[in-house]
Amino acid sequence: AIEFDNVTKRFGDNLLFENFNLKIRQNEIVSIIGSSGSGKSTLLRILMTLETIDAGQVRVQGESLWHMQKNGAWKTASERHLHRMRGQLGMVFQHFNLFPHMTVLRNITEAPMHVLGQSKETARAQALELLRLVGLEDKTDAYPSELSGGQKQRVGIARALAMKPSILLLDEITSALDPELVDEVLEVIRKLAADDAFTMILVTHEMYFAREISDRVCFFDAGKVIEEGPPEQIFTQPEHERTRAFLSSFL
Ligand code: ATP
Ligand code: MG
Repeated sequence: AIEFDNVTKRFGDNLLFENFNLKIRQNEIVSIIGSSGSGKSTLLRILMTLETIDAGQVRVQGESLWHMQKNGAWKTASERHLHRMRGQLGMVFQHFNLFPHMTVLRNITEAPMHVLGQSKETARAQALELLRLVGLEDKTDAYPSELSGGQKQRVGIARALAMKPSILLLDEITSALDPELVDEVLEVIRKLAADDAFTMILVTHEMYFAREISDRVCFFDAGKVIEEGPPEQIFTQPEHERTRAFLSSFL
């Protein structure tokens, strides 16, 4: 499970989250929707410890990512602890972030070999299996520049899965794609969701997909969860005026 417990996060004078609370259950699939600048990416980046917080607690599987010291300063958990926590989380980004000078196969095997200490053979066998899962078994030796956006993104997903995370964080993974390439990527996420083996947080502008796949949808506005609930409720009977206004811009 994931817990944001009274989290405050500021960027300089900009107070983004104030006493922010959110709980996500094991194996729950939560979509986060909301306008630009509302804090969706920052939420995921905090979980990946790519950002720190100013107050509160963030727990992953019951363990805090940061600890308050006696002098009131925030201390990142030990490297070893962080390493272990990060290992449970896999993130896929909007702009793929593949290593351009490495083949598809090496993009996927690099971290399992160097971080998890997998042998070359094990990492390779696992990568081939993941490439089959995302439908790219024929692209093992290609370089990222030789792939379409949809293919790059599927490699990005395979690369995240290679670290065997139990939690997947997906930040607008289809928004950089041409419309005709969106489905092939969503199809992979559909498969992963059907497995019921992952907790997923999905930041997305694909409202139909969010509606189809999510257990719960959270609408963010200026660092607050304005409204949340089952997709049917959020998409057909939003209670809050802001949610209605936001959703109507997608019609
Ligand atoms: P989008 O839909 O455009 O991706 P978002 O909901 O993901 O938006 P965030 O990227 O989380 O929004 O940003 C939330 C707010 O925090 C914005 O006002 C942004 O300017 C600010 N912010 C984010 N990262 C930083 C940073 N590194 N330094 C300063 N301000 C930041
Ligand atoms: Mg964002």
